[in-house]
Amino acid sequence: MRCPYCQHRESKVIDTSHDSQGNIRRRRVCLNCKRRFSTYERPILATPLIIKQDGTREEFDREKLMRGIRIACAKRPVSAEAIERLVGKVESELQQMGKAEVSSRVVGDRVIAGLKELDQIAYIRYAIVYLGLDDLRAVRDEIDRLLEGQEQDQSNQS
Ligand SMILES: [Zn+2]
Repeated sequence: MRCPYCQHRESKVIDTSHDSQGNIRRRRVCLNCKRRFSTYERPILATPLIIKQDGTREEFDREKLMRGIRIACAKRPVSAEAIERLVGKVESELQQMGKAEVSSRVVGDRVIAGLKELDQIAYIRYAIVYLGLDDLRAVRDEIDRLLEGQEQDQSNQS
């Protein structure tokens, strides 16, 4: 563990404690600059394998997911940070499931749900790619649902 101040590699543990979640916290002092910092040890959850529509499995690919979402958000007022957050949220939801594998549909549904809150155009773009262009009816149903939602919002406001 490098010192966050001077990047020196050696430090001495001066105290070890557990937080309420059972994570281990170690207070350290850098052997070079003598400054103090803490490190945490916590278990990292495994991300399940993704079962693709053709039945093959692949590793969850954060970058690939991010690219797909970025494309859907192109020229929309969605910040890189919001996209990053969405990907992180989807990933941690998958991890929380504690399963060895999940269907790619599970991932797509979560992205769609997240985009719906972020930006409706990005949401529709992603849904078109995800639902497939051959399923225009499903896309139209989604747009209809969105428009109904908007009309309700407007009548609630007035
Ligand atoms: Zn140091």
